[in-house]
Amino acid sequence: MSAEASPSEFTIKLNANPMPEDERLQAFQSLGFGTLFSDHMAVIHWNVVKGWHSAEITARGPFAIDPAAAVLHYAQEIFEGMKAYRTGDGKVVLFRPDENARRFNESAKRMAMPEIPQELFLQAIDQLVKTDAKWIPEGEGSLYLRPFMFATEAFLGVRPARDYIFCVIASPVGPYFKGGAKAVKIWVSENYTRAAPGGTGAAKCGGNYAASLIAQQEAVEHGCDQVAFLDAAEHKWVEELGGMNVFFVMDDGSLVTPPLGGTILPGITRNSLLSLMRDQGMTVNERPYSFEEWQADAKSGKLKEAFACGTAAVVAGIGEVKFTQGSFQIGTGETGPVTTKIREQLVSIQRGKSNDPHGWVRTI
Ligand code: PMP
Repeated sequence: MSAEASPSEFTIKLNANPMPEDERLQAFQSLGFGTLFSDHMAVIHWNVVKGWHSAEITARGPFAIDPAAAVLHYAQEIFEGMKAYRTGDGKVVLFRPDENARRFNESAKRMAMPEIPQELFLQAIDQLVKTDAKWIPEGEGSLYLRPFMFATEAFLGVRPARDYIFCVIASPVGPYFKGGAKAVKIWVSENYTRAAPGGTGAAKCGGNYAASLIAQQEAVEHGCDQVAFLDAAEHKWVEELGGMNVFFVMDDGSLVTPPLGGTILPGITRNSLLSLMRDQGMTVNERPYSFEEWQADAKSGKLKEAFACGTAAVVAGIGEVKFTQGSFQIGTGETGPVTTKIREQLVSIQRGKSNDPHGWVRTI
């Protein structure tokens, strides 16, 4: 693989028709999540002979892929999600991008796809963010980055493909939940599970999300924002939400979060919160927590708060939980003080407003 792309070999082809500035600024007035896209994308190709090659930043646009491309049939696809922020002093920063690169390669291994050198992954992100820096909104917003990889080989046999495209696109975003900082409502899915032992739950592959959509649809039909999944074997243990990990705040000040065991996604937000909490001497138990316990603790008042966490929403209080047999409220039904405080601590590190004891923030 002597022709492997190196981070220094990015070709930059600027978009000849970028969005006019007034249109962009107008669009920034009503940012949602994942609906508006920047002018460029990063693209790198891989095949068995050349390895990673032809790295470029180019105008964002459609791909032409063969109808037999493996991704369209056997779903060899993985992705990541991260954000670039503009700090108060005008710097552009990323939060723990090395962790996204590491998790991307874990997903790649699980899906029998080629791993990408961490430096090349980071360089693709850096180059795209630099090229599209004007797409990072000021204030509360951020530029959501979506690295992904998919199999392009035209071949219908069932085996790992021999050609892939790695790409990064960027989307300026506002709040993930329409209600802003309001506590969210969760639907507990008792009919559908997300991941089984030995399956792909710990990988960020598109197929996991395809399989979760029907449960998410059920959540929406019941007036909820997100679905919570129980484990596949016993339908007993709370695992995670469709796109977020979950924490429970107890009346003695300790916290509980389900352990990583291969069936849930090892969230970077989850991991960062665990560090921040433990730094402050808080007790966090990574232990199985059952749906029965959740109901009993909410009823008795032992459970004070619950929150969901992930890159998109950062930290969101859970106010109400619904399921086929009924519903229950958590604490006051509003976002609680422990949730608010930990959210503020993390957000201020991510946005370069407070010091960064773990060296999580990378300036580009
Ligand atoms: N669980 C799932 C299923 C997710 O999709 C995400 C979002 N990546 C998370 C948890 C949270 O992970 P992170 O904090 O790394 O965004």
